[in-house]
Amino acid sequence: MKIKAAVFRQINQDLSLEDIDLADPGPEEVLVKTMACGVCHSDLHVVHGGVASPTPAVLGHEPAGIVVAVGAAVRNVAVGDHVIACTSLFCGACAQCVQGRTHLCVDRGASQRPADGTPRLSQGGSMVHAFVDLGGFAEAMLLHHRAVVKIDKDIPFDRAALVGCAVTTGVGAALNTAQVVPGSSVVVFGAGGVGISVIQGARIAGARQIIAVDLMNQKLENARRFGATDVINPEGLDVVKTIKKMTKGGADYAFEAVGVPKLLEQAFYCLAPRGTAILVGAIPAGQTVNLNPGHFFQEKRIMGCMMGSNRFTLDAPRYLDFYRQGRLDLDGMVTRHEKLENISEAFRAMTAGEVTRTVLTFD
Ligand SMILES: [Zn+2]
Ligand SMILES: [Zn+2]
Repeated sequence: MKIKAAVFRQINQDLSLEDIDLADPGPEEVLVKTMACGVCHSDLHVVHGGVASPTPAVLGHEPAGIVVAVGAAVRNVAVGDHVIACTSLFCGACAQCVQGRTHLCVDRGASQRPADGTPRLSQGGSMVHAFVDLGGFAEAMLLHHRAVVKIDKDIPFDRAALVGCAVTTGVGAALNTAQVVPGSSVVVFGAGGVGISVIQGARIAGARQIIAVDLMNQKLENARRFGATDVINPEGLDVVKTIKKMTKGGADYAFEAVGVPKLLEQAFYCLAPRGTAILVGAIPAGQTVNLNPGHFFQEKRIMGCMMGSNRFTLDAPRYLDFYRQGRLDLDGMVTRHEKLENISEAFRAMTAGEVTRTVLTFD
């Protein structure tokens, strides 16, 4: 089938709207008509070369849609189901999967087509890549069934889509990775889509104090609405000292949700003894972090975080229950809608800090 997709061809060049071919679903695959897809910083990082991707590639990794066909072996979804998709594909058989850490699966290839076979996406017979095996900036997606989860039909697609990346990453960082304890103090560096999700996760977990740190005042005001109890614009401030004072001795958890080495260092330094810094943002390859090892005598910890340590099949429906109960605000996160052909405008608005999330919608 022929569909329209926004294709990444070259670093620092606008995505181009092109016709591509989608193969028929294999036994374990699902064909999904895209209804919505969030625009994430990682997509823009690909365009700018900070995140590597083969070319040509269809970007977009926060999609929601309707199942239109399934392969013979697919049992988790059926034609007509509403679904969201996440990039945390897993094999179900490796040591990480068997221990319940499917987000750290070491055999992603188990859910991909063989390199010498017919590609899922192509153009004139040659392969087009689906970024992180999703490719949501397109009218339809051909996905492995383990990438998708069925959702209830009362949840709007543009809200549900956010659970595919930003919410799963941020809320999961608080609930799954850090396991924030009720009554604790939490600092979140960065109040974009992921940072706001961390703030919401910390609020759901029952944190007593949630401090948002961002250079843009409008983002800080926005952060209050999602649960930040205090905000800091670090411009001209000693941010570590300020946080130490506000928390009366240091935070229990500090999340870095931007991807800047200096912020991870600050996150580590502003902790109370036994506090945990969690790196949620993606620090570009080649950059390094400098830490004063003396702080480790206070038993401070640093944790990595991969996609909110998600078990997508379990987590996604839970997060959508939080949404339905009014405990997770997705409505406020969707600040703009655009059509596929206006993807460049969505990137511009994100760079300018005008939006928490732009969601592309499809007819
Ligand atoms: Zn993302
Ligand atoms: Zn695995």
